[in-house]
Amino acid sequence: MKKGKAKVKWDDLCIPKDKGGLGIKRMKYWNVALMATHVWRILNNKESLWLLMREKLKTQDRIKEWEISNQTLLCPLCNLCADSQSHLFFACAYSHDVWKKAKQLINIDVQGNDWLQISNFLASGPINNSNFIVAKLMFAGSVYFIWQERNSRLFKGRKRTVDRLFEDIYATVRLKLLSVRFKESSQTKLLKIAWKLN
Ligand SMILES: [Zn+2]
Repeated sequence: MKKGKAKVKWDDLCIPKDKGGLGIKRMKYWNVALMATHVWRILNNKESLWLLMREKLKTQDRIKEWEISNQTLLCPLCNLCADSQSHLFFACAYSHDVWKKAKQLINIDVQGNDWLQISNFLASGPINNSNFIVAKLMFAGSVYFIWQERNSRLFKGRKRTVDRLFEDIYATVRLKLLSVRFKESSQTKLLKIAWKLN
């Protein structure tokens, strides 16, 4: 065992506490919880995600320069268009389908056609309005998971379908909603029913 680091076997984490483990039933949920926190931070700190994405895309621009053949790198989500930031989030057919699904769970008319317009619109909405909270989370979740899916395809060769990706977005947003203390109102009552929060 290395000095200074308490080693816990991966399997022990999942063993119930009374049997000597740390009581985390399934690591999958642990990861979703971390992701939910991360997604919530995105909208409050949108510039950092923006910069992060730019860095990732820059990496690919560099790869492009190294390529001997002058082939354009295609977007890993649709394999049809050149890989670029502007294409990825709203022009890409894959992302478009993800966003379309997300919009079905949003009760406000989201204004804007790109990342900046939409995030500005959502950031200017009433902070405590539950419909805006859902919209922000769905938007941040969609952007984050689309970005993650692109990198996972590009660097790990792992693919998820739109439906599968959306399940992850939904689970993450729902988990975050469970931790929000909503004021009692007819609007939040409906929201709790729609998202099965009770
Ligand atoms: Zn694409």
